[in-house]
Amino acid sequence: MTERIMNHRRQWLSLLFLLLLGLLFSACGSKGPEVIRIRGEALGTFYTLTVVAPPEGVTEERIRELADTALDRINTLMSTYKEDSELSRFNRHAEPSPFSLSPESYEVFSIALAISEESGGALDITVGPLVNAWGFGPGSRREPPDEEEIRQLLLHQGYEKLRLLEEGSIVKEDPLLYCDLSAVAKGYAVDVVARALEDAGISRYMVDVGGEMRVAGRNARKEPWGLGIEKPLTGVRELEMAVQLEEGSLATSGDYRNMYIHEGKRISHTIDPATGHPVQHDLASVSVIHPSCAWADGYATALLVLGPEKALALAQEKKLAVMLIIRDEDTGALSRVTTPQFDTCIRKP
Ligand code: ADP
Ligand code: MG
Repeated sequence: MTERIMNHRRQWLSLLFLLLLGLLFSACGSKGPEVIRIRGEALGTFYTLTVVAPPEGVTEERIRELADTALDRINTLMSTYKEDSELSRFNRHAEPSPFSLSPESYEVFSIALAISEESGGALDITVGPLVNAWGFGPGSRREPPDEEEIRQLLLHQGYEKLRLLEEGSIVKEDPLLYCDLSAVAKGYAVDVVARALEDAGISRYMVDVGGEMRVAGRNARKEPWGLGIEKPLTGVRELEMAVQLEEGSLATSGDYRNMYIHEGKRISHTIDPATGHPVQHDLASVSVIHPSCAWADGYATALLVLGPEKALALAQEKKLAVMLIIRDEDTGALSRVTTPQFDTCIRKP
């Protein structure tokens, strides 16, 4: 009797042993999903793509081609550095007649004008001449303009003087209007690349163009994507925190990267359209999470112009997922303010 029980137990033990061995082998032998990483240059910055488990036949070369084609098109349409871009041709169009836009530019103008309305003109793509005058445009010097020049340029500024017509064209009510789409175009480019990937059957990806990001699906470890936000410090790259997202976009605007110091003052590439001067307040960076990267990008710039109090008020009114990093001018200490919608995305350590 006891022997039968012993035999039984031995059988069970050997079965368990075989099962464990099998598990161990299958764990060693099983590969994770295929991961393709691509880096490149576009729109005057760098881009990175990570694609997980692409469909059969969608190779690294194919993905690179999709991204480069999408990014080249945005550059050809919206660069102020290219004389023959659609935007440069519109900027030279000094007539009241409608100017016909590509569907992509039309969409970017629509998003920019909607955010201008919402932010009371904090985002205003007609600040282009001031952006150039302060040294952040094509062929410009890194030196402040004088007050008279600023006053003159402000006369020919104002997003209200742009009118989008239903059939896909746009009208300038002041022939001297000159537009700069940079505050939204990079985010829009991320959306366009994401769409191209999805059209190719890719459902798990991360797209990053110059720090504006969009993700979908889960990463190779089957987790939501972790996206880092930098500390707003010039000259060093340190992580402030990470958010986790399974679907959506993250854009950040700050006063710490594209800037120069003039007579001890920080001259940032973000211009306050109300004054014609670079923003001068203690808001160091703004991060926005939004389904669309174009909107996230546009909101981030608008909120940076508004400054901490008004930015928080608008973020609360629109229920936006936002983090503001505020710099104490005396001590340099950084503090964060977040909305509840942002808090739910913060990655727990
Ligand atoms: P980045 O992601 O490179 O920090 P942003 O998205 O913040 O850039 O956009 C900043 C760019 O937008 C500037 O370089 C300038 O070309 C343009 N810009 C600056 N101020 C404004 C403004 N108030 N409204 C719209 N565009 C602006
Ligand atoms: Mg922006």
